[in-house]
Amino acid sequence: MPKKQINEIRCAFLSRSENESLARSIISGFLLPLDPTVDELADIRCAISEAVTNCIVHGYRDTSGMITLGAKAYDDRTVRITVTDKGCGIEDVAKARMPLYTTCPDEDRCGMGFSIMESFSDKLSVSSKVGKGTRVTLTRKLAPQSKENT
Ligand code: ATP
Ligand code: MG
Repeated sequence: MPKKQINEIRCAFLSRSENESLARSIISGFLLPLDPTVDELADIRCAISEAVTNCIVHGYRDTSGMITLGAKAYDDRTVRITVTDKGCGIEDVAKARMPLYTTCPDEDRCGMGFSIMESFSDKLSVSSKVGKGTRVTLTRKLAPQSKENT
C-alpha cells in the first residue's frame, strides 16, 4: 500500500541567527505528536540546525533573505523535511558534501555540516543552482511507536 501523507507544515523566516533556534523549535513541535525517541528528536533538530546555519552563513553570505522550512509526515512514520534558501547556490554539490570540505576554513568552519546531516538521516538530497539557491531534503523513518504510548 502506498504511504499516505498525514501532516504538512511550511514556514518562512529571515536569515538571522536567532531563527536557528526558532527552526529547531518548529521542527520539534512538528515531530512531538509522532512520539519520536529522544535520539530521533535530537538528531533531526541538529540536522535542521546545520541546514539553516548553512543558509545563513553561506547562502546569504554578505546579504540576507528568506529561508523556508517545510515538513511532511507519512502514515509509515517517514518524515521529509526541506530547508530552502534563495541565496548564492553551490557550484559543485558533490564536492561540498565531502567531509571536511569548507569554503570558510578561516571562520572556524570545519566542513562537517553535510556529513552530520547525512549521518542523522536515512537519505539526504541537495539540489542547488548558482545564483538561485539551495534546497536540502532530509528523509528519516521514525522507529515504531512505543506500546505504552499507543
Ligand atoms: P561546518 O558546517 O562544519 O561549520 P561548513 O558549513 O563549511 O562547515 P558544510 O555544512 O558541510 O560545511 O558545507 C560545505 C560547504 O558547502 C560550505 O563551506 C559552503 O561552501 C557550501 N554550502 C553549504 N550550504 C550552502 C548553502 N545553503 N548555500 C551556499 N553554499 C553552501
Ligand atoms: Mg555548515
